[in-house]
Amino acid sequence: MFKKIIVPVDIATPEKGLDIFTKAASLMDEGGQIVLLHVVEEVPTYLAIDIPVDMIENAANEAQDRLTELRARTGIDATIELRIGPPAREILACAEEQGADLIIIASHRPDFSNYLIGSTADRVVRHAKCSVLVRR
Ligand code: ADP
Repeated sequence: MFKKIIVPVDIATPEKGLDIFTKAASLMDEGGQIVLLHVVEEVPTYLAIDIPVDMIENAANEAQDRLTELRARTGIDATIELRIGPPAREILACAEEQGADLIIIASHRPDFSNYLIGSTADRVVRHAKCSVLVRR
């Protein structure tokens, strides 16, 4: 079905990450690859004055730990990738660089249930060059 699947995980919503990760495993060809991706968002410089310089590094380490736990918990093999920047832009860049043939993304946070699709998922669907599965 699919050879390289990008699974962007917002570590603030781990149950969504688990759901899209296991879905990816069910759609992957034998010998395919899953990339578990978290994007650490940058803080605008006008807000960053009082923020410790290692904040991004700490957030990246935390994300690495959460994704490693997710992989261990499911027993599904995956590569872990961390990027820094606006999530939608980095998800799209990762998919292109990796030559992905599918992105699986969750639709929105559960508590924002009056929206059909969140802003990150919306941008990814509009601009991706490969197929996108929006998981509801
Ligand atoms: P919401 O606005 O409710 O947060 P989003 O569209 O931003 O909805 O998020 C939906 C999905 O997009 C997440 O479940 C995740 O799959 C992906 N996503 C959002 N932010 C990130 C991020 N920082 N890193 C990786 N994936 C993300």
